Amino acid sequence: MPGTLFIVTAPSGAGKTTLVRGLLDRDPQVQLSISYTTRAPRPGEQDGREYHFVDVPTFRALRDRGEFLEWAEVHGNYYGTSRVWLKEQLAAGRDTLLEIDWQGAQQVRKVFPDAVGVFVLPPSLEELENRLRGRGTDSDDVISRRLLGARGEMRHVGEFDYVIINNELHEALDDLVAVVRAARLRYANQHLRHLQYFAFLEQD
Ligand code: 5GP
Repeated sequence: MPGTLFIVTAPSGAGKTTLVRGLLDRDPQVQLSISYTTRAPRPGEQDGREYHFVDVPTFRALRDRGEFLEWAEVHGNYYGTSRVWLKEQLAAGRDTLLEIDWQGAQQVRKVFPDAVGVFVLPPSLEELENRLRGRGTDSDDVISRRLLGARGEMRHVGEFDYVIINNELHEALDDLVAVVRAARLRYANQHLRHLQYFAFLEQD
């Protein structure tokens, strides 16, 4: 049976990456799609692990060849999801999670209307600012731009199926695990998983 596609979106600093890492630890059946980006690696980030880091001409060439299922410009950098890789993974039955922005989420939903959309909100904008500053990886200039973008991004919360407010990390993680678990129990998934049983129940 095909894998389930999850989209997790949040303004940066909402704790999305930590949450997603926690989910992957708790549920090894979920794998993460590694995006392409033109952003410079942050300290500790590795090519092929957090992102495929490419330069702008390479990104544009990939985009123009139609290699991306979706792509967007976020905070002045390009980001994109590999179309072929994702389709192969889903076809092989692997549950796959995309950590992408709202623009990408809109594009993916058009191709995969059954994708499960999760939006992660920080408890407040003040708390978001504290977290961005505490992270210490971005300059003041970058932080100001991200805060400005956060409000715009958060306006799209209504386009998602589930909303997780990341106040206490362990609770938010329990929420995300619950969403993944619930998605696996949807009728269409259970029907495919238990074909014979359902065929028996549905016969006259
Ligand atoms: P960061 O640079 O902090 O890792 O990510 C910045 C933003 O880009 C985040 O909102 C993240 O979700 C988004 N992003 C990361 N990868 C992709 C992608 O492949 N496509 C889109 N549309 N957004 C992405």
